[in-house]
Amino acid sequence: MADSKTASQTTLYWRIMQSLFWLIGAGILFCLLFFPSIGLLLFWNILIPVAPALLVVSTGLWRNICPLATTALLPRHFGLSKRKKLKPNQSGILGLIAVIMLFLIVPLRHAVFNNNGPATAALIISLTTIGVAVGFRYEWKSAWCSGLCPIHPVERLYGGNSFISIPNMHCDLCANCVVPCPDSTRNLDTGHYVKMRAQRISNFLITGGLPGFIWGWFHVPDQNKLSTAAAFAGVYTIPLLGLLTTLLFYRILQLTVKSKNGRALTGLFAASAVSCYYWYRLPGLFGFGYLGRDGLLLDINGLIPGWTVHALAGGLVCFFFYWLVIRINSRRSWLIRPEFAKRHELNERKLAAKTVTVDR
Ligand code: SF4
Repeated sequence: MADSKTASQTTLYWRIMQSLFWLIGAGILFCLLFFPSIGLLLFWNILIPVAPALLVVSTGLWRNICPLATTALLPRHFGLSKRKKLKPNQSGILGLIAVIMLFLIVPLRHAVFNNNGPATAALIISLTTIGVAVGFRYEWKSAWCSGLCPIHPVERLYGGNSFISIPNMHCDLCANCVVPCPDSTRNLDTGHYVKMRAQRISNFLITGGLPGFIWGWFHVPDQNKLSTAAAFAGVYTIPLLGLLTTLLFYRILQLTVKSKNGRALTGLFAASAVSCYYWYRLPGLFGFGYLGRDGLLLDINGLIPGWTVHALAGGLVCFFFYWLVIRINSRRSWLIRPEFAKRHELNERKLAAKTVTVDR
């Protein structure tokens, strides 16, 4: 009795958190449409810079509170989903599409989104519409949160050494909708579970390519007026060259490193990617960036010496290498798997049968 009371209290707290973050998300969307400069600041210069670190430390927390996930799962929460199951090869293809979408959308930040609130809002609305549409058809997180969402490949790469496993606050019972479930699998890493060809390709692209892609991305300035298609395509050139370079490097290491060290190799590339992000992003947020005022949150250049911000970025780099490469793997899943729906049904039936016997 006490246990069920505690469980319902926990659920209530999480529902409040989810609602709060959903409202924050809706507020940012509103600002992007009607007060673009505030919306852009909140979205690209506060929310997005926090996300990678959160994914490294507790991917599960993000998966529980992400406003887009909450929206995409509404059809399932309200019993409006057809609850179809994806075949493993379909899951693999969705994962590959997610990686391609990530690599296609992110460079467009320089061309359009970083300086255009309504365009960023249109992007979020489009992704949410896709998430909700597939949520109406497919069971729980299989098609969006663990499938098409372009952030999911990054979650898989960064979330290999979770600090804590927390309760899954979306799936009430586990329908085994995605195998292996990224939320419930201990020790998840992109080097594992590569039975399908599409999975192999997406894992290879995200693990090997992301560090170089991020490095390249930070060497492209924001463009306000792109007049030609060639200039537009130019925002892809350096990130894709970076991607190909680290991909090649990763392939060579894959072929030379012993398979028992595969996890360490994944950790090394994950740490390189997230470290590269903060190495450039942190100074950029505070006016010490290499690309002038691009991505500026608060200009404190002149108020404090530049080395302090770079030292902070260096500290973060050390932290990520410790966390993802040196620290012993926590062997924790992002979230705790809820009871299997089939087992729950069986238990319910047994209980009902017992009750009938006692009544007689
Ligand atoms: S916990 Fe179960 S129902 Fe939820 S996403 Fe994972 S496999 Fe699907």
